[in-house]
Amino acid sequence: MARRSEGNGIDALRRLMSGADRILAFTGAGISTESGIPDFRSPGGIWSRMAPITYQEFVASEESRLEDWRRRFVMNADFARAEPNAGHRALAMLLDEGRDVAVVTQNIDGLHARSGIPADRLVELHGNATHGRCLDCGRRMELGEARALIEAERRCPRCPACGGLVKAAVVSFGQAMPEAEMARAVRFAERSDLVLAIGSSLVVHPAATIPLLAREAGADLVIVNREPTPLDDVASLVLRRSIGEIFTELFPGLAAQ
Ligand code: NAD
Ligand code: ZN
Repeated sequence: MARRSEGNGIDALRRLMSGADRILAFTGAGISTESGIPDFRSPGGIWSRMAPITYQEFVASEESRLEDWRRRFVMNADFARAEPNAGHRALAMLLDEGRDVAVVTQNIDGLHARSGIPADRLVELHGNATHGRCLDCGRRMELGEARALIEAERRCPRCPACGGLVKAAVVSFGQAMPEAEMARAVRFAERSDLVLAIGSSLVVHPAATIPLLAREAGADLVIVNREPTPLDDVASLVLRRSIGEIFTELFPGLAAQ
């Protein structure tokens, strides 16, 4: 059962964090909304404006592929303009202080890396939108090259090595999860003694199984989300408030940065 804390929950969070040896932060789109990047499911979120393009649609139709690329370029411009916020910076600060912290994210915006989480402490489960990849042979293509090919040929870029379709290196709905990244996430989950699930609706599987795995391996689970989630009942602590508010209250120094 959730141990709902007295007051605003910050003291309970502080106690859990200072007692933990190995912290796993599992983050979703909610950690980036205060950087100005809309999430999927909140009011005004991406889904209230357009349906996602599934992997199957991308593979089946040239029109869907071009639309997918068009959206990628718009989104990437938003990502580039955004800055990491107090939530991202709090996690990077803990690492800087020598705490054992790993971040497993569902996000594709690159803000955890930009806040200073090194690659060996970061798992981007759904990839990131900073480059493209051939769906057949896995060859990488930079976005500038993809854009030039789209403009010249008015079709989705083809791989120069094998002719396969090139898609942004993110996991689309209906696409298989990358096995190596999933395995790294499972390892971090199994060794952590505290998991902070921050700004994830915890409904997208298999990604949402990561915090659950940590919980089952004996870790305390803390959920930070302004809305209820399906895992609230098995959490040690649920903080139903804004992520930025919680982390600036926890680490007042962050507000000044
Ligand atoms: P989601 O949109 O389903 O859920 C976001 C959750 O965060 C919601 O439950 C919402 O209540 C909560 N939330 C939003 N802002 C908050 C705030 N400031 N404080 C507290 N809670 C807040 O996102 P998801 O669960 O991460 O899964 C959807 C998928 O969407 C992911 O797989 C991800 O790849 C993709 N996505 C990524 C980005 C990004 O990279 N920034 C943006 C949109 C979608
Ligand atoms: Zn190829």
